[in-house]
Amino acid sequence: MGSLSGKTAIVSGGSDGIGRAIAQKLAHEGAHVVICARNSEKIDSTVNDIKASGGSCEGSVLDVSDAQSYAEMISNVAKDKGLDILVNNAAHVGMGMIADTDLDGFQANFRINVDAPYMGTRAAMTAMGDKGGSIINISSVNGDRAMQGMSAYGASKAALTHFTRNAAMEGARQGIRVNAVTPGPIMTPATKAWFDHDPDAGAAIANANPMGRIGTPEEVANVVFFLASDASSYVTGASIPVDGGKANELYVPS
Ligand code: NAP
Repeated sequence: MGSLSGKTAIVSGGSDGIGRAIAQKLAHEGAHVVICARNSEKIDSTVNDIKASGGSCEGSVLDVSDAQSYAEMISNVAKDKGLDILVNNAAHVGMGMIADTDLDGFQANFRINVDAPYMGTRAAMTAMGDKGGSIINISSVNGDRAMQGMSAYGASKAALTHFTRNAAMEGARQGIRVNAVTPGPIMTPATKAWFDHDPDAGAAIANANPMGRIGTPEEVANVVFFLASDASSYVTGASIPVDGGKANELYVPS
């Protein structure tokens, strides 16, 4: 019996990368996990892996850029199985210098990184009611720190982190805790493909981190598990960096 036995969790973008590690961890700790993403083959593969290791998991094909459908899926799961944990993880990383991008590209970041978590949180808070629950938003160090070419993604993640604080105020009296995790660079399949293509970028990012390395999806999942569990029962409105110390660093020693 894991500490999440009897609980139901939804993880958006749970078929790959950080979301997959979160789904695996929550299932390993006993939760029934519902993952959603766009590609059904990746969903099936993750669901089968989790089941093969003894976990309980199901998948839903869904594009969270349709925030209304995302909210409906959450309400339906809650009606069917109850809802204790929601992890708003799926994201859009739109890069580009401001002068080279357009409004539609800018807004795509907000549709997926802010509108969907807002609609998901709204549906989850309604479903959780007075019995409480835990909502976890996967934000980013890019929401706290600036760099070239990341204005849209960074602004959307800053919005998500601050939305988290405000939502926490509204859920507190009902026992609905709302927290964020702000990862630094994490070795997901997409990150690995980038570094395989450009090893210098990978080495530079690792060397510029106080710990001298890139983080793992499992290191993010462990913090999400803490926030999902009763071990964090007096924690709400927090944004916890999982970044090897990067967001706190004043300068990079030579
Ligand atoms: P990833 O490897 O690209 O995985 C994204 C997951 O989300 C996949 O399951 C993908 O499946 C799904 N997804 C993407 N767009 C979706 C959409 N519109 N609707 C539904 N599902 C969608 O991403 P990741 O790197 O693990 O990132 C996960 C979270 O961590 C994001 O919130 C990201 O901003 C944050 N983060 C990541 C890093 C990092 O270094 N990786 C750093 C800081 C923060 P489909 O493609 O099949 O839909």
